[in-house]
Amino acid sequence: MKIPKKYKEKLKKYEEKRKMNKEEKNKQEEQVKAPSLIKQAKKFSVDAIKHAVKGNPTCTQEQINERLKICESCKWFRSNRCMKCGCACNKNKKYLNKLAWADQSCPVGKWGPIEENEEES
Ligand code: SF4
Repeated sequence: MKIPKKYKEKLKKYEEKRKMNKEEKNKQEEQVKAPSLIKQAKKFSVDAIKHAVKGNPTCTQEQINERLKICESCKWFRSNRCMKCGCACNKNKKYLNKLAWADQSCPVGKWGPIEENEEES
C-alpha cells in the first residue's frame, strides 16, 4: 500500500518530535542522577577532613530543619539525599548528615556554611 506524500511528511515530523521529547526526558533524568560512588567517597573524605580540622562544628536542630526545608523544595532532593553531591540530607542530628555539619554548604548555593553557633559561643 502506498502512503500519500503529505502523510509521509506528517509521520516524519511526528517521529522527529517524539525522538526530541524522549531525548529531553532522558537528559532531565540524567541531570538528577547522583554522582558515582567513587566521586561520593572522594568528596566525603575531603569534606570529613575539612570538618575535623574545623573542630567538627555541628548545627542546631533549628538550623538543620531550616536547611532541610530548602532542600525539600529543590529539584536535586530525592529520598533524603542530595543528587547533586550524593550526600544524605535529613533532619537527624547525626554525623552522616550533610545538613548537620555547620561548615557544609549547598553545591548550588541555596544555603551556606554557618560560621558560629549560639550553642558553641
Ligand atoms: S544541598 Fe542544595 S542542591 Fe542539594 S538538595 Fe539541598 S538545596 Fe538542593
